[in-house]
Amino acid sequence: MANYGMAFDYELCIDCHACEVACKEENGIALGMDHRRLWIEKEGNTKNDFWNIDKNSVFFMQMQCQNCVKPLCLEACPRKAIYIDENGIVRIHEEKCDLFLYCMEACPYDARYINDKYKHHFTDKCIFCADTRLARGETTTACQITCPAKLRYFGDLNDEKSEIVQMLEKRDFFVLKENAGTIPKLFYLVPKDKDFANKTIKMGTKIHTWKEMKTKVCSS
Ligand code: SF4
Ligand code: SF4
Ligand code: SF4
Repeated sequence: MANYGMAFDYELCIDCHACEVACKEENGIALGMDHRRLWIEKEGNTKNDFWNIDKNSVFFMQMQCQNCVKPLCLEACPRKAIYIDENGIVRIHEEKCDLFLYCMEACPYDARYINDKYKHHFTDKCIFCADTRLARGETTTACQITCPAKLRYFGDLNDEKSEIVQMLEKRDFFVLKENAGTIPKLFYLVPKDKDFANKTIKMGTKIHTWKEMKTKVCSS
């Protein structure tokens, strides 16, 4: 079975939000809803207003559930509603969720939200389009296929020939909030532009190669 993950060449992001719109369309989320499954974080000197923005001091980070190898949301759920499926995707038994919301509190990435689309509400998040595109036999996610900058790489981390593994073998990367110990499966590629890399990578961030990271991510 697969072990899905995603990598981002975040240097290329133009903050167009096409990925967010595509995700909402694919997964039945109303367009006006904020912070659902996927969101883009503006970082750097964000105090500048829209008309006076300093393009050199602002950058954009693609945010969604990290589909962690060791998910704190799973550990926190008293109903044991959260599980990791055969493709390495962190899922929820919707009917078991009683909205205690411990999972939302436990997630270091603030990735979960309450899905109130159906009569039974439950906590939801990005599941790599598992119930929509992957279920139809497609091999891409909605956000990935729509991104005009083509900065999203999605695929099977256990498959050395997959596009994502080939990219991770070529480029160093970092992960977010590594100290939380969740072993996230979203990888942010170190920018090719050294100045941009220096400005956007936080001090103390560990830079990884796929050679050393794959033993942690693909051990199961
Ligand atoms: S990012 Fe949060 S919600 Fe997603 S698997 Fe990790 S701990 Fe769970
Ligand atoms: S992988 Fe699918 S569900 Fe996850 S953020 Fe992208 S479009 Fe949304
Ligand atoms: S579609 Fe691509 S370029 Fe546009 S905001 Fe999303 S990640 Fe950035």
